[in-house]
Amino acid sequence: MIIVMKQGAKKENIELVIDLVAKNKLKPVPLYGTERTVIAVIGDERILNKDTVEAMDDVDKVMEVLKPYKLAAREYHPENTIIIVGEDGNAADRVKIGGKEIVVMAGPCAVENKEQIISIAKEVKKAGAKILRGGAFKPRSAPYDFQGLGEQGLKYLAAAREETGLEIVTEVVDPRDVALVEKYADILQVGTRNMQNYSLLKELGKAKKPVLLKRGMWATYKEWLLAAEYIISSGNPNVILCERGIRTFETHTRNTLDLAAVPALKELTHLPIVVDPSHGTGRRSLVSAMCKAAIAAGCDGLIIESHTHPEKSVSDAEQTVSTEVLKQMMKEFKKVAEAVGRKI
Ligand code: PEP
Ligand code: MN
Repeated sequence: MIIVMKQGAKKENIELVIDLVAKNKLKPVPLYGTERTVIAVIGDERILNKDTVEAMDDVDKVMEVLKPYKLAAREYHPENTIIIVGEDGNAADRVKIGGKEIVVMAGPCAVENKEQIISIAKEVKKAGAKILRGGAFKPRSAPYDFQGLGEQGLKYLAAAREETGLEIVTEVVDPRDVALVEKYADILQVGTRNMQNYSLLKELGKAKKPVLLKRGMWATYKEWLLAAEYIISSGNPNVILCERGIRTFETHTRNTLDLAAVPALKELTHLPIVVDPSHGTGRRSLVSAMCKAAIAAGCDGLIIESHTHPEKSVSDAEQTVSTEVLKQMMKEFKKVAEAVGRKI
């Protein structure tokens, strides 16, 4: 059950609702939004009488959401959620994910050194990207592979933001590092291997910055949306979903990019959805076509591995496109976006 309070509801009336829920041995999860407060009720909600709650002061409505994920469900929030990125400037000038504009995030798989990230940032900005990607904490399949530069990498990303004005998206792997990564990043990325790391998800619920939640390589839509629900119900409503391919029997591509996820999730949830064709295919020759298909399918953003010298990338070189190719690709993306009533 979700209790939606009226706009401008008095604090004491919100408290009375929370007390009533708690007295019934249910767990109230208040989410204090910019416009209104909602209280999610966790537990066997049949105990609570809907009409009694609805009659309370400042309660707007009580919704019984049937889906197991509630706050992430479109049923509960029919309009698309638009996530505003970054801290500086007017809301009007800031990057928004989930609106008419399709936001391109581009950059290397990993931050390698200061010169590398700054030179790539400048080029992806010229191509039209709004957000710079780059991992400082790398969850590598082999323990002997490059694990990332850690905090030093985050500092280089911040320097690249300073230089170019691009916002930063970077991965956080360990719940103990959430506060550290939040200090430098504008969007916190959860990698495919961590989609069901519930202690990480709960910690991200305490963060103030948006979270880019990648789909687990084995996850169903329901499991993915339940992972988003962990973050939202822990206090952070700003979740962006990212389809990055799943494991199937096909071995030609690194993963199978599930583009049906885009329109399917648009039906199930109000959260924005971004597509990562780099990890989705593992092959740079396929990235452009999959980006165009993702735009046509209705995605809200793309995350593309791009490097000034892709062959020299310390990780994921085979799927990384050059920044020059990115510039060419972006021209075609604009045409597809226009054809489906969006812009880049
Ligand atoms: C990445 O974005 O570099 C990454 C490691 O992605 P994924 O978690 O999707 O494999
Ligand atoms: Mn990568």
